[in-house]
Amino acid sequence: MPTKSLERLILEFNKLPGVGQKSATRYAFHILNQSEEDVKNFAEALLAVKEKVKKCQICGNYCESDTCNICSDNARNHNIICVVEESKDIMILEKTTKYRGVYHVLNGRLDPLNGITPNELNIKSLIERIGKDDIEEIILATNPNIEGETTAMYLAKLMKNFGIKITKLASGIPMGGNLEFSDTATISRALDDRIEIEI
Ligand code: ZN
Repeated sequence: MPTKSLERLILEFNKLPGVGQKSATRYAFHILNQSEEDVKNFAEALLAVKEKVKKCQICGNYCESDTCNICSDNARNHNIICVVEESKDIMILEKTTKYRGVYHVLNGRLDPLNGITPNELNIKSLIERIGKDDIEEIILATNPNIEGETTAMYLAKLMKNFGIKITKLASGIPMGGNLEFSDTATISRALDDRIEIEI
């Protein structure tokens, strides 16, 4: 029977995605066997992300200043916006080193059954950006599953009258899949071969 403190730590690890009771227990005992310094560093890293990380005022990407390093990079093409569901999708697309435009983070995907309607997503600021900046192309890079496709179609319809090119990543990323689980070469190709959405 674990002690009260161990039990508490197991419970916390158990809240993490993909961490079951067994792994949570293993992690808790691992922490117990680590040096005080290592544990302190770990605890401080946890607190630091909550204290220091905020959202970019322009695109919604995570950063530690008012605007992220992508939005403040003048060498990038600010006329192309790639729309993604989450901040972590940016990291995946950036790994291809191919895309030189900027991004917009929706902060989720449409999922009406679970109460996620357009109002819950970062859509208003996207429309404002399009109205303000001289945007040439919007790349919809939502995940290739039902919610992601629904979100992309919703946005394509919404932006239909702006007179800008609206594209989406080419297939290659398996349907029902996730950007997260696709390799860099596949994503790179999907970006290169992106197709225009006609509505
Ligand atoms: Zn940004």
